[in-house]
Amino acid sequence: MLRIPCPFCGERDHAEFSYGGDARVQRPALDDRSEERWYRYVFLRDNPRGPHREFWQHVGGCRAWLVVERDTGNHEILDVRFAADAMKEAQCE
Ligand SMILES: [Zn+2]
Repeated sequence: MLRIPCPFCGERDHAEFSYGGDARVQRPALDDRSEERWYRYVFLRDNPRGPHREFWQHVGGCRAWLVVERDTGNHEILDVRFAADAMKEAQCE
């Protein structure tokens, strides 16, 4: 059973959360005219086995958006952060 430790509410069943997609995808600049980059951004996703960063929203709790690093092979949760904090950290890297 997949349980996600929300940083605000504590550990909860995944049924309280809504999956929001791949957290590694980077949107092209709004003035980027490359059809290939926009096509990849909108339609193409990896399907990795192993650690994967994903957006989840705690819709049945605090409603916060989270970035969850989850091993897709065994559903082990490796890291959970508020999405706003994760995005700030990603900009600083
Ligand atoms: Zn929560």
